[in-house]
Amino acid sequence: MVCIYCGSEKTEVVNSRQQKRSNAIWRRRTCAGCSAIVTTLEKIDLETAIIVTRKSAHQPFQRDKLFISIYESCKHRNDAQTSATMLTDTIIKQLYPLISSASVSSRQIATIAGKTLQRFDTAAGVQFKAYHP
Ligand SMILES: [Zn+2]
Repeated sequence: MVCIYCGSEKTEVVNSRQQKRSNAIWRRRTCAGCSAIVTTLEKIDLETAIIVTRKSAHQPFQRDKLFISIYESCKHRNDAQTSATMLTDTIIKQLYPLISSASVSSRQIATIAGKTLQRFDTAAGVQFKAYHP
């Protein structure tokens, strides 16, 4: 990992933790060049792990696309951004059992997202389903 402050290529991991909710590994690193401390997150590359099928088209999974549709459905909430981030992680976790078949249909993603939103906030669920029938 290259230090963002001095450009040194020598950084050392001094602490590491598993983040179960977001399925990531959090690492605290120190730079051997300038002693700066930075945090890194290691996550599965979902774009290469999940292929989304829609009608006959195939495309890599895009977390941002899912996040935006969740965020749009949560706009009425004061905590829309935080909720959308948390809900997006929750929905992605529910996709894991489906990935073993190499691809997931956009309909499967919309169904899981709709149910998750409905449980979290009825108005958000209704909003989402209006755009993803
Ligand atoms: Zn440095």
